[in-house]
Amino acid sequence: MTDSTTQGWVQVRGAREHNLKNVDLDIPRDAVVAFTGVSGSGKSSLAFGTLYAEAQRRYFESVAPYARRLLNQVGAPDVDQITGLPPAVALQQRRGAPSSRSTVGTITTLSNLLRMLYSRAGTYPAGAAHLAAEAFSPNTPAGACPRCHGLGVVHDVTEELLVPDPTLSIRDGAIAAWPGAWQGANLRSIVHGLGISIDKPWNTLPRKDQEWLLFTDEQPSVLIEPERDRIDHGYYGKFWSARSHVMHVLAQSQSERMRERALRFVVSVDCPACGGSGLRPEALAVTYAGRSIAQMNTVPLAELAAALHNTHNSSTDGRGAGGSEASEAAQRIASDMIVRVNELLTLGLGYLSLGRNSTTLSTGESQRLRIATQLRSGLFGVVYVLDEPSAGLHPADAEPLLEVLDRLKDSGNTLFVVEHDLDVVRRADWVVDIGPNAGDGGGRVLYSGPVDGLEGVTESVTAQYLFADNAHSIRTVRQPDSWITISDITRHNLRGTTVELPLGVMTAVTGVSGSGKSTLVTQVLAHLVRSQLGVAGDPDDPALTLDVGSVSGLDAIDRLVVVDQRPIGRTPRSNLATYTGMFDAVRKLFAATDEARARRYGAGRFSFNVPGGRCDACAGEGFVSVELMFLPGTYAPCEVCHGARYNAETLEITYRDTTIADVLGMTVDTAAEFFADVPSAERSLRTLRDVGLGYLRLGQPATELSGGEAQRIKLATELQRARRGHTLYLLDEPTAGLHPADTRLLLDQLQRLVDAGNTVILVEHDLPAIADSDWVIDLGPGGGDAGGTVVATGTPQHIATGGGATAVHVAAWLNR
Ligand code: ADP
Ligand code: ADP
Ligand code: ZN
Ligand code: ZN
Repeated sequence: MTDSTTQGWVQVRGAREHNLKNVDLDIPRDAVVAFTGVSGSGKSSLAFGTLYAEAQRRYFESVAPYARRLLNQVGAPDVDQITGLPPAVALQQRRGAPSSRSTVGTITTLSNLLRMLYSRAGTYPAGAAHLAAEAFSPNTPAGACPRCHGLGVVHDVTEELLVPDPTLSIRDGAIAAWPGAWQGANLRSIVHGLGISIDKPWNTLPRKDQEWLLFTDEQPSVLIEPERDRIDHGYYGKFWSARSHVMHVLAQSQSERMRERALRFVVSVDCPACGGSGLRPEALAVTYAGRSIAQMNTVPLAELAAALHNTHNSSTDGRGAGGSEASEAAQRIASDMIVRVNELLTLGLGYLSLGRNSTTLSTGESQRLRIATQLRSGLFGVVYVLDEPSAGLHPADAEPLLEVLDRLKDSGNTLFVVEHDLDVVRRADWVVDIGPNAGDGGGRVLYSGPVDGLEGVTESVTAQYLFADNAHSIRTVRQPDSWITISDITRHNLRGTTVELPLGVMTAVTGVSGSGKSTLVTQVLAHLVRSQLGVAGDPDDPALTLDVGSVSGLDAIDRLVVVDQRPIGRTPRSNLATYTGMFDAVRKLFAATDEARARRYGAGRFSFNVPGGRCDACAGEGFVSVELMFLPGTYAPCEVCHGARYNAETLEITYRDTTIADVLGMTVDTAAEFFADVPSAERSLRTLRDVGLGYLRLGQPATELSGGEAQRIKLATELQRARRGHTLYLLDEPTAGLHPADTRLLLDQLQRLVDAGNTVILVEHDLPAIADSDWVIDLGPGGGDAGGTVVATGTPQHIATGGGATAVHVAAWLNR
């Protein structure tokens, strides 16, 4: 190979990671390269598992030679050679639970700048000393509120919890939070000794006595007279108010049971000292543009930009800034922030605030934040490897994102984009199509070249969708059985909104990012249905309270199923076999073999989650975690069982010449054949294949599954037990991460659910999914404050006649 021919190209030779079939490939640099193919075809194995992994490996070798041993353990990608590969940065959606302390401000690093701005350019109270930037962060000792230690919340008792039944007397236990038994009797004697009645109903006691009994910090000692035969001589007893008792138990008690009991009487509330900001009073006293840093963290980015702009233009007069050098620095910080915030506005994220917790962001929102952050990093000569950047985007929001990708390229970078959105693929400079099918049926490069050339590749499923201009059959729209009506919804940007949702049909809730779709569907609607059914609240927000007017029609629903993209488990211990329940059936099969019975191995012996049959060295994980600088949560195969998860004795048991570890290594397709005559296993496996997951291995850890795969596993688990009728299925963007061919499979399954008498409500951007629905509810017109209203409802055909952002795209799709 000569330099003149290889320059500007990344050359891959002999890539065999996962299902890749000894792939050779040349990809241009300084280009946007789309990796396409059905899910499971091997796109990620190539883009992330091979190219990105190799770039990472080289980087770590160069910075930390001592890490080499560990890296060898983790394993380099299975590839003969890669040349011309620049350093890589991955912007991946899957994996890694965001930490609850990270926010929009920390992801974008704008929080650092804002703190510097307040430190240098803030307006301080007269005579106050200037604070360092750290003093504006609740996560540093210098900035943390002394009361709540920077958490922003404190536990406190409430009167309703302390005294649940105010008609009781103290003797009958009005103060529920007080201890029972001897201590309780003691406290009653003290109250009596203080001259307060313990026999009158609580609600007849004077208010000041009530407050004192519940909340005082005073602890008078009272001489308790001998009372009947109970004690034979007097003693001094110390008083504890209900609050001080509860707080004392929470702070001091070693007994889990006591602490748990005490927790029943407290709620977590915004810290009164810092108003929930977690900051010290000195920091909160400093303002910029008339706002404290805590307030600035809650305003939408669009408003932050305006505030920075005004102050910036009117120029700092140096009053708060202490000298012109400092004010010049402040000017620079402000203008730097303006540029960065504008970037976020361009990407349609102006409705977010800096303080917004990252756990409440959608995957699309957080990926766009990280992309915008990269834009400012000024790196060039880098490969950015992106996982479906268009996921979660309304077609109207996708355009600015694509422009950002082009700008990253123009500043001298290469973009490898794993993508399903055909509009994004069409705009790429180069496409690498992998396939033709998933798993063993894929792993080959079907095409690598400019997009147009893919048209002639008959084997490619992607080509069929990319170049199809055949009109699609218009479905006959179903008629609703009944309606749910929710009036006057007030939450986030929904302000007095009224919504009518049809039952017995499939509905798509549409609208640009931030218009209120998730708030309506996964919060308000899900919450109302849960309360109607009397089931536990949102696992993420059990304390959610709702502000709605009247609600009707919920009684037609028997059951609620939320099929979201949250992981099916957060550790490598959970996998698809355990999640769907099919592994129980498999373990029983192994326990029923002659050899297992002779050895008295029960089904538990074949579990990797309990001691007995599992490998002790790795406690059944098959992997041990390796601490690698900069590479959190890296796993290396266990040196004892080599990933099998079981000990040698357990692996001596075979069912049809196969060990339990072999079963976990099978794909769903293989297992479906192997267990064809085992009905309990076969049912699970069939539904998994129906949703297009035949390529997954049974033991693939939950942490390796994409959000889309997790969602389809949940759906399959649901389908395997689906009964007739009256279940409400809520799905937030079920098509995210799916190839159009996989979207088709998924929609067919959802249609089956509706045909069986159930209701399906989707939050969706995907045009085929919207066109497949019976009814559409379009929210908008914009995001954040500019959204929150129903702009159109009706059949997809009807929606297409409107003029909004969604209408235009639906019309274009229907009239292709
Ligand atoms: P895509 O990105 O096209 O959806 P992947 O590259 O994720 O596909 O998967 C390709 C094949 O490799 C699939 O059969 C998948 O089950 C398998 N695979 C993915 N990750 C792993 C892994 N960590 N170990 C073994 N096989 C894997
Ligand atoms: P969509 O699903 O249409 O993208 P969302 O329902 O997520 O829109 O958001 C609607 C509005 O509510 C936005 O202004 C968003 O910033 C706000 N919002 C959503 N979730 C939260 C939350 N957990 N806390 C505060 N505001 C939120
Ligand atoms: Zn506080
Ligand atoms: Zn082991």
